[in-house]
Amino acid sequence: MNNPLLNFEKFAPYSKIKPQDVLPALDSVLDQNRAKMQDLVKENQNYTWENFIEPMIALNNRLNQVWSPVRNLHSVADSEELREYYNQALPKLSEYSSGIGQNPDLYRAYQAVSQSAEFNQYSTAQQQTINNELRDFRLSGIHLPPEQQARYKEIQQQLSTLSSRFSENVLDATHAWKKNITDESLLTGLPENIKALLKQHAEQNGLSGWLITLDNPIYIPCLNYLDNRALREEIYTAFVSRASEHSRLANGEITAQWDNLPVMQQILALRHEKVQLLGFKNYAEYSLYTKMAKTPEQVVEFLLDLAQKARPLAEQELTELQAFAQQNAGLTQLELWDVPYFSEKLRLHNYALSQESLRPYFPLNKVLDGLFAVLQRLYQIQFKTLTDGSIETWHPEVKVIEITDKEGNLRGHLYLDVYARAGKRQGAWLDGCIDRHRTANGVQTPIGYIVCNFTPPLNNQPTLLTHGEVLTLFHEFGHGMHHLLTQIDYSPVAGISGVAWDAVELPSQLMENWCWEREALNLISGHYQTGEAIPEELYRKMIAAKNFQAGLFTLRQIEFALFDFRLHWQYQPDINVQQLLDGVRKEVSVLIPPAFNRFQNTFNHIFSGGYAAGYYSYKWAEVLSADAFSLFEEKGIFDAETGQRFLNTVLAKGGSQEAMDLFIEFRGRPPKIDALLRHLGMKN
Ligand code: ZN
Repeated sequence: MNNPLLNFEKFAPYSKIKPQDVLPALDSVLDQNRAKMQDLVKENQNYTWENFIEPMIALNNRLNQVWSPVRNLHSVADSEELREYYNQALPKLSEYSSGIGQNPDLYRAYQAVSQSAEFNQYSTAQQQTINNELRDFRLSGIHLPPEQQARYKEIQQQLSTLSSRFSENVLDATHAWKKNITDESLLTGLPENIKALLKQHAEQNGLSGWLITLDNPIYIPCLNYLDNRALREEIYTAFVSRASEHSRLANGEITAQWDNLPVMQQILALRHEKVQLLGFKNYAEYSLYTKMAKTPEQVVEFLLDLAQKARPLAEQELTELQAFAQQNAGLTQLELWDVPYFSEKLRLHNYALSQESLRPYFPLNKVLDGLFAVLQRLYQIQFKTLTDGSIETWHPEVKVIEITDKEGNLRGHLYLDVYARAGKRQGAWLDGCIDRHRTANGVQTPIGYIVCNFTPPLNNQPTLLTHGEVLTLFHEFGHGMHHLLTQIDYSPVAGISGVAWDAVELPSQLMENWCWEREALNLISGHYQTGEAIPEELYRKMIAAKNFQAGLFTLRQIEFALFDFRLHWQYQPDINVQQLLDGVRKEVSVLIPPAFNRFQNTFNHIFSGGYAAGYYSYKWAEVLSADAFSLFEEKGIFDAETGQRFLNTVLAKGGSQEAMDLFIEFRGRPPKIDALLRHLGMKN
């Protein structure tokens, strides 16, 4: 078959891939894999790692090789045509994996290997691989009677289709609203660079004037800076109504065509039914079965405890903000569309520091070079951006970066796609493309995608990042290093594969800490005109402002996490999602959004990402990352020995061992919350 998705060695031939290639390529691999699996079961009598597990891994890697570029394109270059084929492919994939998970012959073969005399001689990573597989069989309903297995399969298929629909509804609703401004006076307060972006946006859409959209690089500054309160309210209202029963269209009309409430209700019902089939009481228990946290009570207690510690600070921050808005604008009632605006003004007032004032010091290329220098000092690795075009990408803006270690060994590649574009999912992420794996032909080095949504360059000016965007870049490279610097030779537990979800944010959140250190800032900052690093005075302001509204921010994260967890823990068929969220807000929040706010309808993390009953992971892992960084604070932030230690204990080991064990190996003791509280200014 002359299908580009089936005919490449390592790097996908993006220029040749067409949406209509997706289904034939997938069908072909799935058929081949199914046939080969049957052979594997039949051919062998004594199952071993070599004659069974290794070939099974190879089949999975083959499927991943074909599917990963498609999944990536759906996230970064979505089109109507691709979406159609992608959505037809999802049920096929789901049927395939349920088919494996419920195949008694395969299960018996894995069991045989786990009970064989050789098992104890396998490495920890090999044993973990086999144990994970056996666990996943149980989680796929291997023990269920046939009718229940069939129902499980059906549920899985419906769930994958529904979560795809959820995120598409969000994307479509986001793009459906825009506002063309022709009266410049409405834009007072907006920084010039953002205005220029709005102008460029209008031009690209064949309009005069300025165009406001709900994409983050535009939405956030508009809420932060627009002096016009009515306009802020209008934008806020459109943003928080997305994918609800009152989603906004560009002409101001209201539509329910992307309403995600029915989608959420179906997803929740199906998740609940699925895990009950498997013998769990609820989805929260099922979620924790593969995580570092052990019981639902432990998670809720952790969140409520943190909420209690953050609350006094949050209340104080809100009182200050209200007083400030009243003093400066005579505002007696602070609305949600006023909060970012007056917060920015208050930050400026308290610290003489605006988000925008740091931009000139963070040209993208300088930040990247500095980031590479930081990582080089920590882990003795080298970065090289490949410019010869030998590796194809999906867009001219995408860079390919090669990483080698101090011995000159190739450790892997990263695709780096940083600019916001139409057809690209919002947010920032690292996704694994290929996992590290050793075969008879040598090591297959890993590849990852790092994707962000930064403001594209304007009028040939360099791209200038906010400090928040610098943090995002460091965060994603933290995931990237986890994925790339692994030394595990078995792809199912190499890099980020097989790592418990509530531990996976440890390496990423750890990296953010360097963005606040003077020594590191000297490497990553340089004024785009003068090359000067962040001046000392500005640095001091940055540090003073670091925990600006940390209490409010923490409570917001806890609100999301608690909502997600309770939704899955306390699920009942007649559950009222809005009521549950309102209840959580009443319990932990100090800022209550207006009744029309439908944040939950765009909560991609838990309805179309992997964070269901797992959003708490961010805060959970923040305890780990703050505590891990405290060792760097003790030994020196560029202490090579501590860097090596993190590399060897956490990054290199991937998912081959329990996250808690790896953490203890690095830190010399179990995690403590003290460092996090200190970093957030909640404790000295
Ligand atoms: Zn992350």
